[in-house]
Parts: sequence; C-alpha cells; structure tokens
Amino acid sequence: MRKKQFKAESKKLLDMMIHSIYTNKEIFIRELISNASDAIDKLYFKSLTDDSVGMSKGDFEITVDADKDARTITISDNGIGMTSDELEANLGTIAKSGSLNFKKDNEEAKKNDIEVIGQFGVGFYSSFMVASKVEVVSKAFGADTAYKWISEGADGYTIEECEKDEAGTVITLYIKEDTDNDDYSQFLEQYRLSELIRKYSDYIRYPIKMAMTHSVPDEEKEGEYKEEVTVDTLNSMIPLWRKNKSEIKEDEYNEFYKNKFMDYENPLSVIHSKTEGQATFDALIYIPSKPPYDFYSKEYEKGLQLYTNGVLIMDKCSDLVPDYFSFVKGIVDSADLSLNISREILQQDYQLKIIAKAIDKKIKNELKKMLNNDRDKYETFFETFGVQLKWGIYANYGMEKDALKDFILFKSSKENKYVTLKEYVEAMAENQDVIYYACGESAEKIALLPQTEAVKAKGYDVLYFTDDVDEFAIQMLMEYAGKKFANICKDDLNLSSEEEKKALDEKNEASKDMLEEMKGYLNDEVSAVKFTDSIGNHAVCLSAEGFVSLEMAKVLSQMPGGNQGMKAQLVLEINAEHKVAEKLYELFAQDKDKLKAYTNILYNQARLISGLQIENPTEFADMVTDLM
Ligand code: ADP
Repeated sequence: MRKKQFKAESKKLLDMMIHSIYTNKEIFIRELISNASDAIDKLYFKSLTDDSVGMSKGDFEITVDADKDARTITISDNGIGMTSDELEANLGTIAKSGSLNFKKDNEEAKKNDIEVIGQFGVGFYSSFMVASKVEVVSKAFGADTAYKWISEGADGYTIEECEKDEAGTVITLYIKEDTDNDDYSQFLEQYRLSELIRKYSDYIRYPIKMAMTHSVPDEEKEGEYKEEVTVDTLNSMIPLWRKNKSEIKEDEYNEFYKNKFMDYENPLSVIHSKTEGQATFDALIYIPSKPPYDFYSKEYEKGLQLYTNGVLIMDKCSDLVPDYFSFVKGIVDSADLSLNISREILQQDYQLKIIAKAIDKKIKNELKKMLNNDRDKYETFFETFGVQLKWGIYANYGMEKDALKDFILFKSSKENKYVTLKEYVEAMAENQDVIYYACGESAEKIALLPQTEAVKAKGYDVLYFTDDVDEFAIQMLMEYAGKKFANICKDDLNLSSEEEKKALDEKNEASKDMLEEMKGYLNDEVSAVKFTDSIGNHAVCLSAEGFVSLEMAKVLSQMPGGNQGMKAQLVLEINAEHKVAEKLYELFAQDKDKLKAYTNILYNQARLISGLQIENPTEFADMVTDLM
C-alpha cells in the first residue's frame, strides 16, 4: 500500500508534537476525549431530526482502555465516525478542521445546545507526543465500510478498509518506550490514566467509561481482599457552575471548593455568575478565609481554572485575575474560547480580556457588598488580604488606585478601630484640612509617639500605618476627596498659631550656633537639629525632610540592593519647652564635651522612639550609665 504524505503544514505540526512543544504531554487524553465528545455531539444532533439514527442521549458513551503488556491505550466512541475521505482530510491536513466546517454548516447547532469544542485543528496530533504509532479505525454513520488510518509519525500515513460493526471511532495509541527524561509508562497505569481523565474531562457530557480493578473484601476468606473489575464512569458530567444558583445549597458550594482547591476551611465568600453579552461565560469564584498554604512563597501562582465547555484548558490562568486579587480561587467556563495550544496565544485572546475585566468587576462588587453590609466579615477579609489591595494601589503607576481606594482600611487613633478613607474624611474636624497619618510597627507603638499625642491633643484623628506598603500606597493616591495626606513625623504640620511659630523661629535663630555645633557632633547622620513645640511633653523626636519618610527609608533599606539613593533626611527635633533645652544652653557655654555626649544620647533616644536601630547600643548604654 502506498504511503501518503501529510500536507506541509500538518507535517510541521506533527514534527512539533513528536518533539513535543507541550510540557504537559498528559493533555493528549483530553484532546482525544474532546474529539470523541464532539463526534458524539454530531450524531446526537443528527438523532434529533433523523429517526434512522435510532439512538437516544443515554446510549452515547466514550470508553477508555489501557493494556500494559501491549503498551496501548484505546479510546472509543459511538459518534458520527469518519469516511475514508474524512480520515484523509481531517487527519492528514491540519488547516482543515472538521469541527470548524461543521459549525459553519449548522448555524442551527448553537440553538440546539450542541457545542463543538475546538476550532483549532491540532488536538489529534498531540497523540504523537506519547505514541510512536497511532491507529484510527472509523466507520461513518450510514456508511457500509469502515477504514483504518495508521501512522508512525512524520513519514506519512496509510488508509485501508477494515471491519467495524457500529458507527464510531476507535483510536489506538502505541505508547512510546520510556527514556531518561520521559516516563510514558505512567499513562498505561489505570490509576494515573483515570486521574488524568477526571482532571481534564470531568465535565464532558457523555459518560467516559473504563474497566477498573478494585480491591474488595473477599466474602470467602475473612479479612482478606480480592481483586474485582468493574466498568466505572469516571466523569461527573455536570459541573456545579452550570447548575442554577437556586438549586445549589451553600454546603455544596463549600464542599466543591474544599475538594477542588484543597482547603480544609470553608471559603469566606462565593461568587457564582452566568454572564452573557460581549463574552458568554460561567464563573464560580471563591474568596478563601485564610491565605492559600503557599501564598507567601515564590512558587505561588495566581489564577483561575479555565474551561471551555467543561474541558479544562488551563489549571491556573493568571490573566483572569489581577495581582491584587491573586488570592481568589475559582473556575471560568466559556464556550467562546478554543482549545488552544499555548499560553502565549491565550494571552492575546480578546475574549479572555473581556472575561478578565468582568471578573475583576464581580469581585469588586462582592467586596463592596461585604464592606457595606457585613463590616465584621470585611474586616476579617481585610486583615488577611488587605495588604494585597494596598499594593494594588501602588502597582502599575497607580493605574488602579481610584478603583481600589475605597476598599482599604486603616486603624486610627480615635478608637483604634478600622476606618475607610471616606469615613475618616467625613469625620474630620471643621478646621482640619489634611489627613494625618503616622507610621510604625504596630498601632500600639504609633499611639505612643510624641507626635501622635500632639496631634490628638488638637482634636484630630491619626491613621495608623503599620504595613510597609501603606505610605507607598498613599503617596500614589496623593489625596482623598481633595484632602492631602500628612505624615505627622515628617511634614510641617502647621499646628501652632502664628505667634507660637514666630517665637519658635526666633528661638531657633538665636540658638543657631549651638544647633550647628550639635549637628556637627552627629556627623552626616542628620540634616538638621532644631527646636520644636509640637511634641507634647516629650524631649526629642526624629522627623524627616523631603520626599522620603522614615518608614519609607526603612522599607527601602530592606530591599535587595539597599536602594542607597533613597535615604531619608533626618531632623533631630528637641522640645523647646523641655528642661533639657536649658541644660543644653548651659553645656554649650561651659562644657562642650558633655554637650557632645548629650547630643548623642538624645539622638539615639530619638532613633529608638522612631523604631530605628541604633548603631552602637553598647556605647549608648555606657554613656547613659556615665551620666548616672
Ligand atoms: P479539531 O478537533 O480541533 O478540529 P483535531 O486535529 O483534533 O482537530 O481533529 C481533526 C478533525 O478530525 C476533527 O475536526 C474531526 O472532524 C475529526 N475527528 C477527530 N477525532 C474524531 C473522532 N473521534 N470521531 C470523528 N471525527 C473525529
């Protein structure tokens, strides 16, 4: 028999398959089962209008069988089958996709709930990733003769007549021998094969059957087990997300989540939606109660499971969720997508972009609802995932800042409770024109800052920024409802009256020599030493001048590379009303050595108050003891 050559394009694709472009070769089973399901769809569709088919929905099935000794996997269907011309055209030519033609011919198809998966004719060739030889025996519905198509890869294929009773197709894969890099034998293992079928094809709408060996108690011998073979249906067929919301109980949602995403806790929230319009898709999205176990590791991958008509295309489609929602889990199923071969192609998919946008909106709506109607739940959510949202404001040059700004919460000095920016602004005192905040390790520590006390004394509330990202996020926001933000440890707060200010300026001016001298003692550590009147009863504090605040400097210094360029310019502020001020004047006049020691002590104290490390703790301790 003469061997026929594949068409040029097919040959190229086949070569790619043989030398495998897929990293997960296991998807061949998904592709072949999808083809079988399509073929059944076609015959089923015909049966609706053509009595000669003589089959009803329950008669259709796909069977899979693995023979370890012969190293074969067989996939059979009782679908529409192929004539010899169709075998030639469909399996010999890549560009001609049978599914695509069928869809065009039958505009009716959609209305009749027949969905044909896969408009991209590469699926079948994926079998060559795992098989050295592929045999396709097929009998078209209504034909008298069956044909066998055989190929051992790139050098061509043959087609010959053969025997087959019923219409349908049987595909036999001769599985490759294992190599150092590839374990092909795994696919011959019953357990592995059935696991893959469940993973990828669980929601195929026809039963996928396989003879499975189980170990069962032996009735004749107490306590012993025997092997029993049963034909099992592997797929569950009805995807939860395709059911009507009203038919699903909360428990069902929760169980599905826990099984599918391996969590032992119920999710905090479930979003189940059916969308039609620019894109048609079903989505089932979960907000977990706790971060996924590997959430903080580098290995964590965000994304949703992507299905097309119940067939898994991708386990973690990262393009479906923005980074700030990286914690969500879930499923998207859309008939608009094709069973494409690569992530790269999928990334550019226009439909996918529309779906991603719609999902982003759905999650935001759910959170908004939670924030407005169930504040406790929202705060729980925020304590777990709020940092993510704050990074979302900062990321991508603030592209999403307006969409996210109303989702963030901060604790504040008034009651040490969470407030939104909106709530803060609405509760602002009449004469207050900026939003005050302070940074620190914890709310408790910030509450004890001298500056906090001073601002509170004026009747203003202070937001507590305790996450590294907080100040970066609000720098990006710049303002909220027309109100600017002011770091009470950095910015000139203008809390004093004109007279008080004038008095302070005069004092600083008059003490210039001493303050310069003190700055000199501290080398390059500070950019200025000055008197202040805005720190209550405390003696000293540190503040920062310019763009970089103390907290930002701390964060930046921990980043890889140290970010040396971004250093905070520190200012040592001394309470002009404090007794220590008088002492400093006295020492400046009489004892410069002691002034130097005092300056060092005050500076180190100020660092400690701000939560900064001090360079030489031993020296500092010694200095203090000496004074005693
Ligand atoms: P696609 O399914 O994306 O069209 P494939 O390369 O997987 O591409 O298959 C090419 C064509 O071969 C299909 O469109 C279909 O017409 C035909 N085909 C494949 N498998 C079967 C099958 N089991 N029964 C009937 N036709 C099949």
